[in-house]
Amino acid sequence: MIGKLFVVATPIGNMKDITLRAIDTLKDVDIIFAERPRHSLRLLSHYGISKSLYLYNDRNWQKQIEIALKLVKEGKNIALISDAGTPAIQDPGYRMVQYFRQKNIDVIPIPGSCASICALQASGLPTDKFVFLGFLPRSPGKKKKLLKTYGFLDATLIIYESPLRVKKTLNYINEILGEREVVIARELTKIYEEFLFGTPPTLISKVEKIKGECVILVKKSD
Ligand code: SAM
Repeated sequence: MIGKLFVVATPIGNMKDITLRAIDTLKDVDIIFAERPRHSLRLLSHYGISKSLYLYNDRNWQKQIEIALKLVKEGKNIALISDAGTPAIQDPGYRMVQYFRQKNIDVIPIPGSCASICALQASGLPTDKFVFLGFLPRSPGKKKKLLKTYGFLDATLIIYESPLRVKKTLNYINEILGEREVVIARELTKIYEEFLFGTPPTLISKVEKIKGECVILVKKSD
């Protein structure tokens, strides 16, 4: 019997944000592939889960995908977890999912926390249509092109950003999209969770020394 790949969402901060099904799955599988095993150990031990953990990240994914496939062909069920949130959403998880799909292996989603949806659901911005841009490209030219391509759709934009680049990104949003309503969702589900509201010019001074993980949301043009 061939095994299955379970793509399991884990919390983005608050350890309680994990589903009963995710806990059961992590207890039932034979092996867990984790983006940051040491970091995940805290969560796993909190829920009394003791499993073999294999490192799976941006640097070793090619080799690890083959190992995972071999294990599944031997009948092992494996779980894929990322650093935080939903695997495959802006992390190396999608490569394993894509490869397993190409090999006709069953891939089972175990849904849960995702920073983009968590930010959107409490932002107050329209949720009927939204576009997830993930991390913007580093190159200014590509960044501007992406904002021009998606920034004028009838949809809220969702952007993942490092705190070190939030200010710069606000400047690009202002330059390309104009004075739009922006929400910055910071440290979601954690002690210092915070939502900042404004337009790029009014937010710039507030993000000078911003810390923690951030999602930037931009309202569609009026
Ligand atoms: N797979 C994850 C998910 O489901 O959201 C995203 C992984 S991506 C490598 C990490 C980025 O997600 C961070 O740089 C930040 O933009 C966003 N993020 C993750 N956790 C967050 C949190 N607790 N608060 C705000 N943003 C968060």
